[in-house]
Amino acid sequence: MLDKINFMRKKIVAGNWKMNLNYTEGVSLFSEIVNMVNDEVIGNQKVVICSSFIHLSAISHLAKSHPKVSVGAQNCHQTQSGAYTGEVSASMIQSIEVKYVIIGHSERRQYFSETNLILSEKVDAALKHELTPIFCIGETLEQRNNNTHFTVLKSQLSEGVFNLDESEFKKLIIAYEPVWAIGTGLTASPEQAQEIHEFIRKEIAVQYTQAVADECSILYGGSCNSKNAAELFAKPDIDGGLIGGASLKSRDFVDIIKSFPK
Ligand code: PEP
Repeated sequence: MLDKINFMRKKIVAGNWKMNLNYTEGVSLFSEIVNMVNDEVIGNQKVVICSSFIHLSAISHLAKSHPKVSVGAQNCHQTQSGAYTGEVSASMIQSIEVKYVIIGHSERRQYFSETNLILSEKVDAALKHELTPIFCIGETLEQRNNNTHFTVLKSQLSEGVFNLDESEFKKLIIAYEPVWAIGTGLTASPEQAQEIHEFIRKEIAVQYTQAVADECSILYGGSCNSKNAAELFAKPDIDGGLIGGASLKSRDFVDIIKSFPK
């Protein structure tokens, strides 16, 4: 039964380039990755590269001839258009045929004061424009040490995405990213990550149905690299990774893609 469920769930590795790489560097890294993925990665894993806005149009165009690799944005604004200087809307992202968008990354929550309410509006905007949200949740070290992490994660889910009806929720990818593990070199142990992924899946089953929970891809993010990915991806509720630092080197990133159990 477990094998059947795992087979049904999409296995995904998404790279989050954050605010790195100039235009030429980004296009050239993307080209390297797509060529390596075509040559070396056999399997049904889905690969998504989430670049800064300056790369999106060019790499989305390149991705058309590489069906194994898709492109995503790292943020979108919650409204359709208007006087929001410096912002980019979901409809603009859709217009360049980008298919994914990261919403709720802890850096957006922390440095741009994005609340669960704002994030829920961003998810609505993304879905309206046929973008697949990669919705991030995660606790700080303080919250984990205070033993409030389950409550925090539960409210990030309930206020951020549990307002969606079942057909909309089924379009989401969830990423568990403990804030204390992002960019710190401290990875959650496979057991710690599995415990939270199992918890998230149970919450989804309570809110929707077991079938919805079983089909939802839940990614792990936080200092995931080519050395620890295989152990993490071997856990039954971990369906891949959202990768920051290690997605900036083609060899490391492709090694992570190859880390799913055979
Ligand atoms: C991230 O920012 O989504 C992330 C997981 O970063 P890193 O892999 O560098 O910890």
